[in-house]
Amino acid sequence: MNAAKYIWMNGKFVAWDDAKTHVLSHTIHYGNGVIEGTKAYKTAKGYAIFRLNDHTKRLKESAKMTIMNIPYSIEEMNQAQIELIRRNEFKGDNVYLRPFAFLGYGVMGVYHKEAPVETVMAAWEWGAYLGEEGMRKGIKLKIASMTRPSNTSNMGKAKATANYLNSQMAKYEAIDCGYDEALLLDDQGYVAEASGASFFMVKDGKLITPPNDNSLESITQKTVIELAEYFGIEVLRRRISREEVYIADEAFLTGTAAEITPVRIIDAREIGAGTRGEMTEKIQSAYFDIVFGRNKDFEHYLTYI
Ligand code: PMP
Repeated sequence: MNAAKYIWMNGKFVAWDDAKTHVLSHTIHYGNGVIEGTKAYKTAKGYAIFRLNDHTKRLKESAKMTIMNIPYSIEEMNQAQIELIRRNEFKGDNVYLRPFAFLGYGVMGVYHKEAPVETVMAAWEWGAYLGEEGMRKGIKLKIASMTRPSNTSNMGKAKATANYLNSQMAKYEAIDCGYDEALLLDDQGYVAEASGASFFMVKDGKLITPPNDNSLESITQKTVIELAEYFGIEVLRRRISREEVYIADEAFLTGTAAEITPVRIIDAREIGAGTRGEMTEKIQSAYFDIVFGRNKDFEHYLTYI
């Protein structure tokens, strides 16, 4: 990974190499931590963080769901992230921010009430999550053999570290089978989300994306829905079954890291023409216009540094 200069840890900026924790930190053993993934882009007016407040708010909400009391306000954490981008003096177009909270050292055993909450904001330069070629030509998606954990036993709306064991197994399986990314169904067999992104398909000129019944409330998915409305494209939010995915005209993934990644193959079936589709390209290029500050109508989503 690309190291940066500073990390914000519990209210202070520390050198990248000094942001450490004890090996007996509670989260390492029992998996209760919450994370965000936010992005800053280098616009013509300097770096701008995309939908900063929405991401920080989701971190606070994830922590509430998992009973972890982050002792900082959303505003304090927003300011920490702004200052973090400033102090690190990044150069490239793409900076990824990882605000998170975890349970530190001092308590063992599953019961976590007395475990100290550590709050951290880190940032580093990070390019296309699913590769530059994937962004142009599309990626290969495999439907995972495991489903997303059901709502009766997990909290998929928390961006909780524990949820990424399921994601990690699915992603590993996909890559091991020669694919790039995994698509997870819910326990009823309908599309939930990818291992770290949301799913969209195009059919007969309409965009279809599942409701967040069994997935993270994705900020990029919301942005794409707004963008579709802006272009007058009809968006259907409904359940999608496996067979429908195979006969989509186009498909793409959305996420802060994945941005808008076209899908060219799903489980050995070519999607549409087997390359980036027309509507996908339109949404992708419009998304980059927004995050790089080239669309005035969406500038309210940018926090300039
Ligand atoms: N689902 C999962 C499981 C994710 O990890 C992510 C990435 N945060 C997403 C969806 C997309 O969310 P967002 O658009 O808010 O980044």
